[in-house]
Amino acid sequence: MLPALTGLSPDALATWLRESGEPSFRSAQILHWIWQRKAASIAAMSNLPVALRASLSECFRLHSLEHTHTQGAADTTRKFLFRLHDGRYVESVLIPANPALYGETSDRRTLCVSSQVGCAYGCRFCASGLAGFTRNLDAAEIVDQVLAAERLTGERVDNLVFMGMGEPLANPEPLLAAIALITGPQTLRLGARHLTISTAGLVPQIRRLAEHPQQLRLAISLHGATDEVRDKIMPINRKWPLAELLDALDYWNTLKQHRLTLEYILIAGLNDAMAQATLLARHARRLHAKVNLIPYNTVAGLEWQRPPDAHCRKFLHTLERAGATATLRVEKGHDIDAACGQLRLKQETAEGIRG
Ligand code: SF4
Repeated sequence: MLPALTGLSPDALATWLRESGEPSFRSAQILHWIWQRKAASIAAMSNLPVALRASLSECFRLHSLEHTHTQGAADTTRKFLFRLHDGRYVESVLIPANPALYGETSDRRTLCVSSQVGCAYGCRFCASGLAGFTRNLDAAEIVDQVLAAERLTGERVDNLVFMGMGEPLANPEPLLAAIALITGPQTLRLGARHLTISTAGLVPQIRRLAEHPQQLRLAISLHGATDEVRDKIMPINRKWPLAELLDALDYWNTLKQHRLTLEYILIAGLNDAMAQATLLARHARRLHAKVNLIPYNTVAGLEWQRPPDAHCRKFLHTLERAGATATLRVEKGHDIDAACGQLRLKQETAEGIRG
């Protein structure tokens, strides 16, 4: 399979052009076609000589994803399913506004992108963890989700969250290569502060990412305020328990400007006791983090239930009374399998390629 041009850094493209005997200004032209014009094919790069388009096509594909399906909800949340070269699927979700994450009321579009096919971390409430881990995405497969979402909708993505399928910090090199392409001045030009990496709590990788020079944002999938609760639903907590995670987040805060986000899926009878809210508020105050409460989105095949709305609001108020900044996410896309991994699982099951 040919490599995708979208995964190539500007330096790597310049090197290829030089070695192919092409003038250096072709690099800017090609980058413009890929990242600003969102060209649909190499053939469409009309100001390149025919011979160069031919040699590019011999060495590269333009994109790494094939769009197969879009699901859209009434509130315009859209979910895109993409086929990879090996027949696997990944999905991305475009959400029109996400004030719960960003504290904004403007209509900014947030794209949740996947970083792996499946996930090895096996959180008990998660559709992506259900089928286990298949493989990492490469940089092109990550950035192409953004390009495809913009091309398919004609809309600009304002914020990006690495929160789709997979644990982004378990795939660090392609993740950082993709971030360089997404934020680069010659490529997609999205400010690093508009990128949030969501992790289940890989402590050494959080510490390493804290030292990354860009001011990226971090969200933690916490989902329990004690080891006892986290151990029940997040196997990763046995490796890096809460105390180690909180220490790593303190370290993060010494090097980063933006507020951390603590993601907390409310699951009936599991983590929604008011005692958890009080402890969660204590963690949030220590970390100067905001808490994003997400009522559980039922996943077929899993036993968990969403608490009643009144209970979710009571949990929110308990948090706030205990001094935490918190929001309760108004679910968008509840009717379109919007929990990460659900659409892809359905598709792969239908085609008999699960596992
Ligand atoms: S919640 Fe995140 S880390 Fe846990 S299984 Fe799902 S994708 Fe993996």
